[in-house]
Amino acid sequence: MNDPTFQFGWQEIGSVRSFTNPAKRYHIVMNMKGHMGCTCPAWKHTPYANPDGSIPPCKHIKGLLSESLEHEGFDATLFGLTWLAKRIAANL
Ligand SMILES: [Zn+2]
Repeated sequence: MNDPTFQFGWQEIGSVRSFTNPAKRYHIVMNMKGHMGCTCPAWKHTPYANPDGSIPPCKHIKGLLSESLEHEGFDATLFGLTWLAKRIAANL
């Protein structure tokens, strides 16, 4: 099982609301290689990895990358805000 909360080197980008249970929040994290992880069951139970060692993104990571943040009640950490600012700057 993939569990970023039990591994070193992960930094939290922010948390999102669960689509199925609004009372629940999942935490989206990033490691030093830039790989992203999530604390949702779907991501944790992904049975395979990409050739670069990253785990394919779950719907929360995909939502974050497609900038549909407001719909999920995205709450960024300071690290997450810096990462978002870099992303926005890179797209300009
Ligand atoms: Zn997820």
